[in-house]
Amino acid sequence: MANEDIVIVGGGLAGATAAKTLRAEGFSGRIVVLAAEAHPPYLRPPLSKDYLLGKSGEDALPVVPDDWYSTNDVDLRLGARAAELDTAARVLVLDDGSRLEYTSLLLATGARPRSIPLPGAGLAGVSTFRTVEDSRRLRDALAGGGRNVVMVGSGWIGMELAAAASSYGSTVTLLGLEDVPLAAAVGPEVGGFFRSLHEAHGVRFRLPASAAEITGASGQVTGVRTDSGEILPADLVVIAVGVVPETGLAEAAGIGVRNGILTDAALRTGTAGIFAAGDVANALHPFTGERHRSEHWSNALNGGKVAARAMLGVDAVLDTIPYFYTDQYEVSMEYSGFPSLASGSPVIRGSLEDKSFMAFWQSEGRVVAGMNVNWPRAAKPQKAIKALINARTAVSPELLTDPSAPLDQLLDQLPPEA
Ligand SMILES: Cc1cc2nc3c(=O)[nH]c(=O)nc-3n(C[C@H](O)[C@H](O)[C@H](O)COP(=O)(O)OP(=O)(O)OC[C@H]3O[C@@H](n4cnc5c(N)ncnc54)[C@H](O)[C@@H]3O)c2cc1C
Repeated sequence: MANEDIVIVGGGLAGATAAKTLRAEGFSGRIVVLAAEAHPPYLRPPLSKDYLLGKSGEDALPVVPDDWYSTNDVDLRLGARAAELDTAARVLVLDDGSRLEYTSLLLATGARPRSIPLPGAGLAGVSTFRTVEDSRRLRDALAGGGRNVVMVGSGWIGMELAAAASSYGSTVTLLGLEDVPLAAAVGPEVGGFFRSLHEAHGVRFRLPASAAEITGASGQVTGVRTDSGEILPADLVVIAVGVVPETGLAEAAGIGVRNGILTDAALRTGTAGIFAAGDVANALHPFTGERHRSEHWSNALNGGKVAARAMLGVDAVLDTIPYFYTDQYEVSMEYSGFPSLASGSPVIRGSLEDKSFMAFWQSEGRVVAGMNVNWPRAAKPQKAIKALINARTAVSPELLTDPSAPLDQLLDQLPPEA
């Protein structure tokens, strides 16, 4: 292994975790991490939550301490972008023209914000949101409150940014294409819960509505004209309409790409020596037997670990149940499962009105996804949800919602024939 060269393209959570795992597994060869950004790999979830709200600083962002790379003999190259990949010669060309040979290569290039062709999108005060610079800029602009903020996009990031902007005392309007925010992810009932939460904090919704134009004066944004002709005053506009996987390098090299870089469950692409992990990977999931591209923190973390082990020839598959979380105002939510398998409305345990509930999505009686909102951590709701999903056993809605049935004993309480 000492003679092998592993190159990791992408200095995000997946890339840094892969480097860390390689060393933890005893790999003693060369590791190069190419990070296009100017910073060592950092965590993005705080960017739209505690960091944006000023509750935590930049010291909470790094994936590993900055000196970990030198201490562990990892060649982290900041501001270095991989430009071209010659898979036959196993050579990577950087944008400065330099070349790197590799034995194995991990593509952990993540995703970039989707852009929409919107007149006025280049005005000052209009931005997308992905990096620490985006978060710092928005935090500085929001400080002191009193801004008019329009959020284009009512997905998780748009909703978290709306919560932060409103908490700073700004007037916030959210535009989204759905009738109910987040409905595509969690259905109208739970999406409606999040809408009510925001409305209680003064956020206004325009749904379904899209931005037709961003208006401005002297180069600065002044408002957003919606497709119905309404003008919403704005001095800050964030376009948060999802992300697209950074597949350009892989595509140009002839590696299979379809909604991300195609991999098997060990995160191997179809090209010898090349692996993909994190937001950019569309990996076969053993649970569903289908490909799944996740844009969440836990997938980048677990994918980085699995790809590292697979590069070392160790048996490893990414078979963890997809998980993500969000924090908005006084609400903390965690979700695990496979929304694509769910049919119908969720079964609710607890109370939406009290902002403390669990939601279970089922398919043919089996739990395929579940969420907990402000549910006591001591009850280990995520552990219970994952156990129910893994059991692949039908559970009655009555049992799921029965407050007298302890969460950790739901499986024990199933009738033997179930
Ligand atoms: C604001 C925000 C909030 C989030 N909140 C949550 C949350 O609450 N819960 C949750 O589960 N998930 C959350 N996520 C998602 C989570 O952060 C991502 O899933 C995770 O960052 C993906 O990690 P990654 O390493 O795959 O990709 P990225 O973090 O995108 O890192 C990829 C890196 O590769 C670099 N790169 C790309 N191309 C090249 C190249 N050719 N050469 C060199 N470098 C390159 C990019 O510049 C980037 O730095 C959030 C994301 C954002 C943006």
